[in-house]
Amino acid sequence: MFLIMPVTAVGARRYRNGGDRVFWRGFSGVENLQSVATLSLQVWTEQCVLPDVSACINALDQPLPMVIDYKDLKTAYRNDPAIGSALEWVGQETGFEHFSDQALKATAYDCLARIPGAKDPRQAGILRESLNRNTSNHERYLLTDPGTLRFRPGSKTHFRNLYLAGDWIRNQVDVPTMEGAICSGYTAIEELLKEV
Ligand SMILES: Cc1cc2nc3c(=O)[nH]c(=O)nc-3n(C[C@H](O)[C@H](O)[C@H](O)COP(=O)(O)OP(=O)(O)OC[C@H]3O[C@@H](n4cnc5c(N)ncnc54)[C@H](O)[C@@H]3O)c2cc1C
Repeated sequence: MFLIMPVTAVGARRYRNGGDRVFWRGFSGVENLQSVATLSLQVWTEQCVLPDVSACINALDQPLPMVIDYKDLKTAYRNDPAIGSALEWVGQETGFEHFSDQALKATAYDCLARIPGAKDPRQAGILRESLNRNTSNHERYLLTDPGTLRFRPGSKTHFRNLYLAGDWIRNQVDVPTMEGAICSGYTAIEELLKEV
């Protein structure tokens, strides 16, 4: 039997099979990989808050430095006249655990309101807000600090029938994204097919 395991970065921290030297022998250095808890904030408003902007805006204040308005990007929103903007911020909670939900939202709104031409979402008729603090171990996201690429394991392991896939496995993209996860899955399959 062959196994392809999708693994999340937190597994690299030896929570599993702790002390099992045979298991960890082939994964030297993985404990150097770090991960963070992520944050996402989705807000739907009656009025448009980012007119003429359908790009991803980066480098806003932490902890939610990236925002995008999906109004013109997703058909469901584009065709719904009740929705002016469908905003989504992303960032990391690690380092900002002490922020309350209210403080997180206020930071995101204040920051967005400073963008030239943007409207403060609080003045645009908020229809719905959804704040997700992804603090569970299985939801953590790989930090790609300089010099850490070499610690990521490859798809093929020292077990003949165990292959790994996931965005933190070495792959052709090497950025923790959907593309990276898919690439590592293809590599795992290619490696497995060499054995059967
Ligand atoms: C807020 C946010 C926004 C993002 N935006 C983008 C984007 O716009 N574009 C992009 O390309 N990427 C984006 N990403 C990154 C993308 O989501 C990940 O790179 C991708 O989901 C990784 O896929 P994966 O299959 O490796 O891991 P995951 O999608 O994390 O899947 C792993 C699965 O394994 C499960 N699991 C974990 N442990 C266990 C266990 N012990 N037993 C059983 N199941 C377990 C988890 O519940 C999870 O379902 C974003 C990530 C976040 C957090």
